[in-house]
Amino acid sequence: MYTDFKVYSESSKVTLVVVSKTQSTDAILSVYNAGQRLFAENRVQELVSKYEILPKDIKWHLIGHLQKNKVKYIAPFVDWIHSVDSWELLSIIHNEAVKNNRIIKVLLQFHIAQESSKYGLTIDEGDIISQNVVNSNWSHIQICGVMGMATFTDDEELVRNEFRSLKQIFDHLKSKYFPDSTSFKEISMGMSSDYKIAVEEGATIIRIGSAVFR
Ligand SMILES: *Cc1c(COP(=O)(O)O)cnc(C)c1O
Repeated sequence: MYTDFKVYSESSKVTLVVVSKTQSTDAILSVYNAGQRLFAENRVQELVSKYEILPKDIKWHLIGHLQKNKVKYIAPFVDWIHSVDSWELLSIIHNEAVKNNRIIKVLLQFHIAQESSKYGLTIDEGDIISQNVVNSNWSHIQICGVMGMATFTDDEELVRNEFRSLKQIFDHLKSKYFPDSTSFKEISMGMSSDYKIAVEEGATIIRIGSAVFR
């Protein structure tokens, strides 16, 4: 199963991030030993404890909602934060990155699903944050693109339309605010149940958990 993703992602130039939340360190190590180096967690505490135990060449992605007071725990080592959903959070990430003398890569998370429970920015909020980012010209953050989660449903057309809307948001932000940015190029969308549709709709990063560990 894992090898399938590898082939799939290499042929279509999509980056596979393996979501290791709730998995044991042994289970993660077996995927690591197969060559995978990008892993993602959705909880700060679990991320920190796995970081401490597991090999240091793993690049860790945070994909879950991030509380402002917890940024300091992951700033010393986290590589990517997919779940930026406010300007305040972004400025705290920048401050912590400065303190740790690191550059942290971030994605702006948009609300594209029908469920009201999913976090994320509206298009208007994304515009405001992007304008602020352009104005502030921060040194220790790289804004690398957008992230979103589709509705959890069997309705493939709905999922496809939601992914398509995230691609449109990406294109809009790219052309309006980041036309010359070499880092603003990623669209993180697609999980075990819907990554094929996501890739068809332009995903550059897929986040796969259960299908790898099953
Ligand atoms: C859990 C999770 C995934 C992976 O989901 P699977 O269905 O296990 O592939 C991807 N993205 C986010 C934000 C998640 O919380």
